[in-house]
Amino acid sequence: MSYETEANPDRVDFLIEDRRSLEQRLAAADPYTRGILERALGGRRPTVDEGAHLFALRGDGLSALVATADRIRADDVGDVVTYVVNRNVNWTNICFVGCKFCAFARLKGQDDAYDSPIESVLERIQEGIDRGATEVCMQGGINPEMSDRGYFELLRAVRAAFPALHIHAYSPMEVFYGARRAAMDYPEYIEELVAAGLDTMPGTAAEILDDEVREVLSHKKLDTATWVRIIKAAHAAGVATSSTLMYGHIETPRHIAAHLQLLGRIQEESGGFTEFVPLRFIWQETKLHAEGLVGEVPQGQFDLAVYAGSRLMLRGLIDNIQTSWVKLGHDLASLSLAAGCNDMGGTLMEESISREAGADSGEYTSAEELETMIRSMGRVPRQRNTVYDLIDDPNGGFEAHAVRP
Ligand code: SF4
Repeated sequence: MSYETEANPDRVDFLIEDRRSLEQRLAAADPYTRGILERALGGRRPTVDEGAHLFALRGDGLSALVATADRIRADDVGDVVTYVVNRNVNWTNICFVGCKFCAFARLKGQDDAYDSPIESVLERIQEGIDRGATEVCMQGGINPEMSDRGYFELLRAVRAAFPALHIHAYSPMEVFYGARRAAMDYPEYIEELVAAGLDTMPGTAAEILDDEVREVLSHKKLDTATWVRIIKAAHAAGVATSSTLMYGHIETPRHIAAHLQLLGRIQEESGGFTEFVPLRFIWQETKLHAEGLVGEVPQGQFDLAVYAGSRLMLRGLIDNIQTSWVKLGHDLASLSLAAGCNDMGGTLMEESISREAGADSGEYTSAEELETMIRSMGRVPRQRNTVYDLIDDPNGGFEAHAVRP
């Protein structure tokens, strides 16, 4: 298996195909790296300084990190790799926020701006259900023309049409905007979203939880403290969320480590994160690239360092580390299962955000394809629901890592 191309020389095959034992790989690493990894194996999470070191590793150090993450994954969550059959709906691309990493948003009046009517959203969800979806994931642009109660109206319509469907919707940015439009505080707004049909929320809009970085990426977006407040309000209301990171742009390894430590602290308090999803920045069609703030970003070793380091930094806090076939492509996403990941994400069926930014991995991966990718890495595929209960487990013997705040 190889994802290497001329444009993408940062290959990782040698890390995955390294036949040395964990102990041999640890012995080949420098003493500082070896110390961090041995302590992680013994149950001590890396500090921010140590995490920053791990995210910058290459060569023998990275090989030892990948093997350590794989051992910790096997010890903590076993060989099952889960996936969810879901349907993404990005119902509007109209947005005034202007994030420099985003190629999805359009201003109202642009030729390809759209704001889907509710009937079209319902049709797309039905299409997902016909293909076995247990979840709809709804996120959209921050549309200035939405009515003050627009998010409630959409939820109510979806809930009325699909009473049993799991609705995973609205990033903290959408909650921030919706609450302001409805003149409600976050707990009150989230409570009403739940009453309208919301089950869980995506923990997106996190990018990097550092205000200096956020100011460059998107100065109109909610700040770190507000993101944290909204996530904590969701967890307090019994609404589980995912947690995410966008990496591979202007951030440093230290920013990534501090971001993970912050997520870990929230999880210690609430237990409301279902999974952690590191999302590789897709640079091709973005302003960040056009303005020269980021160059070409090869995929490969850095991605595995982020996945593997995350497994160590979140050990005992967030069990489910999700890879992203949309961002990495099928081959590299499969290889990342050997670097600490235990979840393949969803089938999606519609994916506009990464595609517009230049990702070319498609918008739909069937459950069968996901299972083939998982088996190709010697692991055991299982379908799950959004909160990580296993669905139709034929053996009944695998431990689920279900999460409820
Ligand atoms: S990332 Fe979201 S908020 Fe930012 S410009 Fe794109 S659609 Fe708008």
